[in-house]
Amino acid sequence: MSSVPEPEYPAEDAPPDEAAARPASDRTRVRRLPKRGRYDRATLDAILDAGVIAHVGWTGEDGQPYATPTIAWRLGDRLYWHGSSASRMLRATGGVRVCVTVTLLDGYVLARSGFNHSVNYRSAMVLGTAHVVTDPAEEDAALEAFIDGLYPGRWAQLRPMTAKERKATTVLWMDLTEASAKLRAEENHDDPGDETWPLWAGVIPLRVVAGDPEADPFVGEGAETPNFRLPGEPR
Ligand SMILES: Cc1cc2nc3c(=O)[nH]c(=O)nc-3n(C[C@H](O)[C@H](O)[C@H](O)COP(=O)(O)OP(=O)(O)OC[C@H]3O[C@@H](n4cnc5c(N)ncnc54)[C@H](O)[C@@H]3O)c2cc1C
Repeated sequence: MSSVPEPEYPAEDAPPDEAAARPASDRTRVRRLPKRGRYDRATLDAILDAGVIAHVGWTGEDGQPYATPTIAWRLGDRLYWHGSSASRMLRATGGVRVCVTVTLLDGYVLARSGFNHSVNYRSAMVLGTAHVVTDPAEEDAALEAFIDGLYPGRWAQLRPMTAKERKATTVLWMDLTEASAKLRAEENHDDPGDETWPLWAGVIPLRVVAGDPEADPFVGEGAETPNFRLPGEPR
């Protein structure tokens, strides 16, 4: 790992503290618009915990890169994802280097020139080695955190997992030591003089909303709809 240079921020864009400003490695240092980079665990955890979908980047044996979308969640110092033990991605990534990203789209940013359009977002990128969870107690804890992270309190209400289901499920983890976050939460920026161009400009905030719940035919009359967390909301 190469040595980590000091990030350079204009004073007004300086992150809140030293941890937020210091990347763990040179390769996790945000180059383009470094003022948007953050490296502290609080910022990273908040993004991972608000996210639902991650993309797992890995390289196949033939050198072909893949970016596999999946659900990922954090428990303590580990990021987890899971799936069918038959999944190619899960079989291929145990023990190999991966890059996992989590992205939340918070807004469209419309300027008066095409060049100055942007989006507001929170994103995280984690580099490291993926490991298969082998301890059944850790697997249980991770799966509980997965279910309860989306549907608070549901794990305790579920029909318990069978041995067959456990065998058919692989859970992977990676640590969070080499990671970065990048955020944009700003208004539109026009070039000087563009303000008078006669076109609407500004921000369209975006958020995920849930539709009406669609109960299956076995749900009894008056049964309560479970709690759930929407993508973008804190855990
Ligand atoms: C929703 C969304 C839309 C985007 N749209 C565009 C676009 O249209 N065009 C564009 O050029 N860029 C876009 N970006 C930003 C993009 O992700 C990269 O940050 C950018 O392309 C280049 O950054 P860089 O050269 O500093 O990164 P690199 O030099 O490639 O990366 C250096 C290191 O910076 C960190 N890093 C870089 N990007 C991110 C990130 N997004 N989140 C967390 N860590 C990061 C990583 O640790 C990486 O290893 C978008 C980001 C998001 C989340």
